[in-house]
Amino acid sequence: MSPIVRFAPSPTGYIHIGNLRTALLNWLFAKARGGTFILRFDDTDTVRSRAEYADAILEDLAWIGTLPDAVHRQSQRLASYDAAMESLKAKGLLYPCYETAEELDRQRKRLMARGLPPVYGRAALKLGDADRAALEASGVTPHWRFLLPNFASDPQAPERTEVHWDDLVRGPQTVDLASLSDPVLVREDGSYLYTPCSVVDDAEMGVTHIIRGDDHVTNTGVQVALFEALGHAAPAFGHHNLLTTLDGEGLSKRSGALSLRSLRADGIEPMSVASLATLVGLSGSIEAVESLEALSARVDLSDISASASKFDPAEVERLNAELVHGLGFAAVADRLAAMDVPDDRAEAFWLAVRANCARVGDAAAWRDIVFGTLPKPLEFTGEDRDFLAVAVDLLPLEPWSRETWKEWTGAAKAVTGRKGKELFMPLRLALTGREHGPELAELLPLIGRERVQSRLQAA
Ligand code: GLU
Repeated sequence: MSPIVRFAPSPTGYIHIGNLRTALLNWLFAKARGGTFILRFDDTDTVRSRAEYADAILEDLAWIGTLPDAVHRQSQRLASYDAAMESLKAKGLLYPCYETAEELDRQRKRLMARGLPPVYGRAALKLGDADRAALEASGVTPHWRFLLPNFASDPQAPERTEVHWDDLVRGPQTVDLASLSDPVLVREDGSYLYTPCSVVDDAEMGVTHIIRGDDHVTNTGVQVALFEALGHAAPAFGHHNLLTTLDGEGLSKRSGALSLRSLRADGIEPMSVASLATLVGLSGSIEAVESLEALSARVDLSDISASASKFDPAEVERLNAELVHGLGFAAVADRLAAMDVPDDRAEAFWLAVRANCARVGDAAAWRDIVFGTLPKPLEFTGEDRDFLAVAVDLLPLEPWSRETWKEWTGAAKAVTGRKGKELFMPLRLALTGREHGPELAELLPLIGRERVQSRLQAA
């Protein structure tokens, strides 16, 4: 059976490189196996969720090349959650509770003071119809808890009940349901918490593999029990480690740091971001991989480190430069055309300058140097000026090729006796205005005789 996976962000901000890690691990897993990648917006928090963030997430995924096969919004699926909660109530697995947050807090503190785990004691289960009616008549509305299957016959006497799963990343995992409080699934105001919505969706959408951050490991025990209570087999789970900055801080959608938007606006290539997001915390080296297919070959979920991966945001710069240096012309043709690089010379231009570009956008400065005018003439010493005056007279006639540089500097060497840096540095400075740059043999035919001549004469 081909896998169905999902990426389930809350649209409460712009996604960052850590969120992309989750999205990509899912996408790569599904695509390597002919599977389906669902994007599910966990947007039941109507205060913090915004349509513009959902649109931005889709746009960011499109930029990376990982568009979903289907999109769902939890805010449009409330009827499914209502039906599932009714079915739990009918089975006696969802029960009303009336304690206030302060009461619950006091109970937890009392248990901890006695050295006991702060697990909810199911007092609400002991209420009779008349108690509940009285509470509700006095204006208290209940929240609803899921009765965990951690007892033989008496819910007041929970027993060790192990839930096991073989995590795709972390290997065999065990959670004891007796160590957990019955989770609240429905709030006093009737709104749903994350757990029921997520489980109902995963079940109804046929999700086969839940791949997500390891901040959800402890939720999994409860979720497995809930899948079963709703009559579904639990899917497979894989919990990948989270990314932190070098000082150990987690990434947050709210801070906007390392958001895909900001990296894109900064001229970073999507594959640099995708490579970093995926390869941090895996056993191989972190390098810029040129395509998602190639990245797919590098990913094995069981190879992901179990502890958080610190990463240096500056790495994205290194990877980007590495990637740009190897980018073929086809990958940048549109962007060069938008920079007004002449079509007939765009490919030769790109191949000449790419090794000097940390971003594709850096080509614009070389476009000015090659096809435009230099910012300002440089000051040369008398001797260099004399040398340039000799060199201009030795310029070969066009057509020029990549052999022209050798021919020209060979002649200049023979006439002036200059060699090495003394020979080429004044030429480089006069022709490009910079001490470093692409091979002059490549640039010379692109700059062309007319410009070369006038630059040498202006020096
Ligand atoms: N909206 C949840 C989150 O972003 C989804 C968790 C899950 O994948 O189950 O943490």
